[in-house]
Amino acid sequence: MNNFFTANLAEVDPTIAEAIDDEVRRQSNGLELIASENFVSEAVLQAMGSVFTNKYAEGYPKKRYYGGCEFADVAEQLAIDRAKEIFGAEHANVQPHSGAQANMSVFLASLQHGDKILGMNLSHGGHLTHGHPMNFSGINYEVSDYGVNKESEQIDYDKLQRKAEEAKPKMIVCGASAYPRTIDFQRIGEIARSVSAIVMADIAHIAGMVAVGLHPSPVPHCEFVTTTTHKTLRGPRGGLILCREEFAKPVDKAIFPGVQGGPLVHIIAAKAVAFGEALQADFKTYQQQILDNAQALADELKAQGMRLVSNGTDNHLILIDVFENGKGITGKEAEKALDAVHITVNKNTIPFDTNSPFVASGVRIGTPALSTRGMKEAEMREIGRMIASIIREPNSEAVQTKVKREVTELTEKFPMYPTRYKEAKTEAISAS
Ligand SMILES: *Cc1c(COP(=O)(O)O)cnc(C)c1O
Repeated sequence: MNNFFTANLAEVDPTIAEAIDDEVRRQSNGLELIASENFVSEAVLQAMGSVFTNKYAEGYPKKRYYGGCEFADVAEQLAIDRAKEIFGAEHANVQPHSGAQANMSVFLASLQHGDKILGMNLSHGGHLTHGHPMNFSGINYEVSDYGVNKESEQIDYDKLQRKAEEAKPKMIVCGASAYPRTIDFQRIGEIARSVSAIVMADIAHIAGMVAVGLHPSPVPHCEFVTTTTHKTLRGPRGGLILCREEFAKPVDKAIFPGVQGGPLVHIIAAKAVAFGEALQADFKTYQQQILDNAQALADELKAQGMRLVSNGTDNHLILIDVFENGKGITGKEAEKALDAVHITVNKNTIPFDTNSPFVASGVRIGTPALSTRGMKEAEMREIGRMIASIIREPNSEAVQTKVKREVTELTEKFPMYPTRYKEAKTEAISAS
């Protein structure tokens, strides 16, 4: 036990230490294009790896069920104040362990079992927690759904109005995981008020852009706003709820003791750090670069003959229809072929998909992570050419070899986590 407080992970548990080193190299040596992922700062990582993980702090700042919470209070109060400042919200709860738990808590705070909700169809870009039959939302509430127009592949707001009038939901849920276009929160707020419904806007994907005014904010139009903190917002893995003062008590009670026990104080401290970063002027520059990069990548993919859902993007993500009604390859095949050359994406259903979610007709790609690494439009165009060449010829060894080399050349120019990066002892991942 003597070296319990001093021994390094590499001595205590070499297997896990090696898995972490391998993961640092995997993230560094590949092109991360999963739209929901990002790279946090070294400062955020340090806060997450702090002794706050030891602390029980059930309750809220100054109202805890445990002693010794004075420094946990500092961290949580700062996270709350910064979240309110970023989004112009009256109340913030920074304790949700994840985006799903943020949503669950808002439902618990505002709905009764069996109430009606109207959410966006999962295959049109919605999220599991917006009413999927296997999720708590679909199990506990009566769900109807809305989606995109078949031609434009954009949200059909007139139809949403009609669906709201028919279904008379208690709550409309908006926000998406795979929707490449701007969401009209004002219009959705008007639709909700016309049928006396409340609105929850889940901005998990677009929170970073909302934070800096590069996507319209739902805060003035929606009773509840939820988000993850780890996507475009670039903080630790976690959730956040924003609401008006009138809902502060029910929301806080829904998180604790409603659906969670003790808060993750180390994660809350890291949220405070990330929110502090989001308040700096260069965070807006970063968000603008995410958008510029997505435009450049979308333009190049189109120039390479790829069909994009809705024919483009307004935000950080792009949905490529790789299946093209059977003329191309499946999303599953595309994901695997790209993975083999260290380009990481995820298969995704597209609106009116004829393939199952496990196969899917599309791949979803996003620019937040590579923008954090410092890549710009020129790199995006290069990556667009790489992606298109792999999707066109997924089985060509010559193409694979060429793209793998290009990926290595590109990633070497944009190093990350220099203090955590250790050269592999055996063959480098990039040479595998
Ligand atoms: C990612 C996401 C979530 C869930 O976040 P987790 O932290 O994985 O639970 C919820 N809603 C939307 C729209 C998302 O994109």
